[in-house]
Amino acid sequence: MPEAKYIHMNGTLVPDADAKVHIQTPAMKFGTGVFEGVRGYWNAKREQMFLFRLPEHLTRLRFSARVMRMEYDLTDERVTDAVLEVVRANEFREDIHIRPTVWVDGTGDMLATGPIGWSVAAVARPRSKLTEGATCTVSSWRRINDNSIPPRVKASGNYLNSRLAGQQAQLDGYDTVLMLTDQGRVSESYGACFFMIRNGRAVTPNVTSSILESITRATLIDLLEEMTGKPVEQREVDRTELYDAEEAFLCGSSYEVQPLLSIDRHEVGTGKVGALTRRLQQRYFDVVYGETNEHAAWLTPVYGGR
Ligand code: PMP
Repeated sequence: MPEAKYIHMNGTLVPDADAKVHIQTPAMKFGTGVFEGVRGYWNAKREQMFLFRLPEHLTRLRFSARVMRMEYDLTDERVTDAVLEVVRANEFREDIHIRPTVWVDGTGDMLATGPIGWSVAAVARPRSKLTEGATCTVSSWRRINDNSIPPRVKASGNYLNSRLAGQQAQLDGYDTVLMLTDQGRVSESYGACFFMIRNGRAVTPNVTSSILESITRATLIDLLEEMTGKPVEQREVDRTELYDAEEAFLCGSSYEVQPLLSIDRHEVGTGKVGALTRRLQQRYFDVVYGETNEHAAWLTPVYGGR
């Protein structure tokens, strides 16, 4: 069963089974692909699908392609049209995950900058059960860093580091994982950023802590500051601070707001989902589903118009 009827490949919609890439492409041989993960939320009452912060994702896609020196010259308007087309063609009326990908196609060598292939795939994405809380461990794998494989760039190859940490955690019986930087500070999870509430203050590792500059992280900083009236601390975080947190959660386009119940078997707070985390999660869902008109500028409606 294909996950979707159609995928956008190099500017046209093709049936799922025809969305293929040759084995000899630099993307396959050397991991030279960059991508985004965008969420679409179906609001049944309004009969509308809202894409969350699509322009910000397309800006980051361009940044990733530039750093990796790919000849990516598509306008954001062109990619936005492709995203809308693929969602509409598949007639999704449920929550979805959209993946725009840009890769070095052709048969070039490791340093090839083109030709560029691009695609937009979308699949249904039901809510994760970890929305109700996850157990977490600190990995013995270190996070990649800005001077080797930059985590700020969302490149396919970066996820080898994520895979090592994620699989180790899973085999050790944890739901999820946090990685440390080269300097031993808290960085991020394998596909999500980290927040904690400590001494009543919301804290998140700063953007130089070997993290992806997460769009959800930026969103939650805004929402938390609105909700609490206090600035979110963006700073280096030590490992033992994790064991002293009143609340903790991961965040990302896929993870949304994922509460952490324990870290290295130390209970976070009471070992239940924290009160502020729960309120933030509710607020996040209200915003992304278009249940509130506040922050409507973050939403791109799919059906009708454009
Ligand atoms: N860190 C990593 C390593 C990720 O893969 C993701 C998911 N894109 C995030 C953080 C969260 O980023 P965003 O909120 O932009 O989805």
